[in-house]
Amino acid sequence: MELTFLGTSAGIPTRDRNVSALALRPRQSAGWLLFDCGEATQHQVMRSSLSLYRLEKIFITHLHGDHVYGLFGLLASRGMLMAEAPLEIYGPAGLSTLLEKVMDASQLHLPFEIELHEVSGGERLTFPGYRIETVPLSHSIECYGYVYIEDPLPGRFDPERARALGIPEGPLYGRLQRGETVTLPDGRRVESSDILGPPRPGKRVVIGGDNDRPELFAPYGAVDLMIHEATYTQRDFDHLPRKFKHSTARQLGIAARDMGVRSLIATHISPRYDSEERLRELLDELHAHYHGPVTIAHDFLTVTL
Ligand SMILES: [Zn+2]
Ligand SMILES: [Zn+2]
Repeated sequence: MELTFLGTSAGIPTRDRNVSALALRPRQSAGWLLFDCGEATQHQVMRSSLSLYRLEKIFITHLHGDHVYGLFGLLASRGMLMAEAPLEIYGPAGLSTLLEKVMDASQLHLPFEIELHEVSGGERLTFPGYRIETVPLSHSIECYGYVYIEDPLPGRFDPERARALGIPEGPLYGRLQRGETVTLPDGRRVESSDILGPPRPGKRVVIGGDNDRPELFAPYGAVDLMIHEATYTQRDFDHLPRKFKHSTARQLGIAARDMGVRSLIATHISPRYDSEERLRELLDELHAHYHGPVTIAHDFLTVTL
């Protein structure tokens, strides 16, 4: 799968960072999913290799503006492009009212159908090739994280074993690889499990929303990648006159360490971290607790898993 960060700033855009949005292209898929849709996400899409035609599903973590104000413009543009494939949208209660009111007031008529699903946490949404589980988070308004879980991959093809069984090279190899049972020219039947290794587990990715308790993802344990906000360093957070329900790099580092996550990407970065030195403070704080590979996201960072 391929992940592209379209917006990595907390609250307001900066010269270098747009507000929250993340694209995920599932393995072996031309279509893609969008997680959150801050203002001007459609501009970021245009600057990437993604196309609104191929956008299949949108998942909104919560209704704060920096996560959702780009939705209306993006839908309208997808409509202007005459995309007709239906679009599924998932998000918290209130999303359908918000969308209906804006569409009604601005007389937005789309050439495609919107299938809107409000989530309430604990859902297991299954799709071909993967599933997505919803996790209630701790923020100042209702907010959900989404855990993307690939279906297991078939085991690896063992060409030596195939040769030993006398299977002729060619199309039969492909059919066995796809899990089919084949009949050989001499009449013998060969099951794919005879020449494939054990199924390999699919990748698991945590996609957090705004949340001051990253440990809420602990039940998912050693995921392949955790993408989560780290809006502030602990020191800056401690000096804030008014506390918002966000995570610090320290909190995220500790949670990722305790979960044993295989890799970590911090995003939703406060605009105050506007230089290499300031970003280094966030990174150092993450490294102080979590010793696996860690990256501070930037716009258009693309990761393949
Ligand atoms: Zn936010
Ligand atoms: Zn928020």
